Amino acid sequence: MKKILIIHTGGTIGMFPTERGYAPSKEAFHAALSSIPELSAPAMPAWDLIDMDPLLDSSNIAVNEWNRIGSLIAGHYSLYDGFVVLHGTDTMAYTASALSFMLQNSAKPVILTGSQIPLCELRNDARDNLLTSLLIAADDRVHEVCLYFGGKLLRGNRSMKYSADDLIAFESPNYPSLADVGIDIRYHPSALLPPSGGGFSLQPFENVPIGVIKVFPGIQFELFDAVMTERLRGIVIETFGAGNIPGSEKALLPIIRKATENGTVMVICSQCPHGTVTLGAYETSVTLRGAGAVSGYDLTTEAAVAKLYYLFSRGLSGEEIKAGMERNLCGEMTVI
Ligand code: ASP
Repeated sequence: MKKILIIHTGGTIGMFPTERGYAPSKEAFHAALSSIPELSAPAMPAWDLIDMDPLLDSSNIAVNEWNRIGSLIAGHYSLYDGFVVLHGTDTMAYTASALSFMLQNSAKPVILTGSQIPLCELRNDARDNLLTSLLIAADDRVHEVCLYFGGKLLRGNRSMKYSADDLIAFESPNYPSLADVGIDIRYHPSALLPPSGGGFSLQPFENVPIGVIKVFPGIQFELFDAVMTERLRGIVIETFGAGNIPGSEKALLPIIRKATENGTVMVICSQCPHGTVTLGAYETSVTLRGAGAVSGYDLTTEAAVAKLYYLFSRGLSGEEIKAGMERNLCGEMTVI
């Protein structure tokens, strides 16, 4: 019988109503789980549960918590066939992206899930998301970090939260779903990653200063000069369309040049969820690469941020980090 480790980090799935709104409760969540008979059905894998302490709303999950989740998985890696991480939806795509880089050469399924409605409510999406994630985590076909939600199994580092209130809350705009769940769980073998050949290892993340700047019509880049050139080590710039920036010739290029000289890595992503950055397609983007920025191609911002943390944490040189950002490492991007 397959054995799965459930790591409960917090989030709506395990929350209960309090006077100050929904809040996590370990005891109440355990009691709610014990009232689901399907969790001990013969077709279910065996499972153990670890609660993180404290349980968190995922708005409060960042590098330290990613490291703790990664360490829990690495510390139990040989004891379990797969892992389910219960997580709030708000930053689930960031954590899924981070774990996909951190858990290097993981051949076992790591499935992040949560819910929009807590398990304690009469109508909820928690029960199905949990039960189906357990079945997927016990499936030999999955060898990667995924996010399961609302009937879709998505690659973790391709996913993004796109609805604040729908039960199908996540999308993978630039990569097909890995499985669709209806009457059956229909896997799409051509979309799944094959098992990685190398041995499993954990790369903890360092809390390097990373920033995200979203450009908008009228942005005054000079206001960001000091932050971009002196404070941050990695910056994701969310540009228009295929990588275009307003007034790039005048305002931004000197800043990018200066930042690059200081060892800051600038990654050009798009504000459009679907499609890819093509530096040089338009006059407004052609000079970005010349100034030292790199293309994020079709990376989500979530994956770009996580990948920057990962590459900086490996202690690579600036040039190696820039080259790594433009290489597909674990299915996160399509390089043109
Ligand atoms: N604020 C919650 C969280 O991300 C939302 C959720 O879980 O759906 O923890």
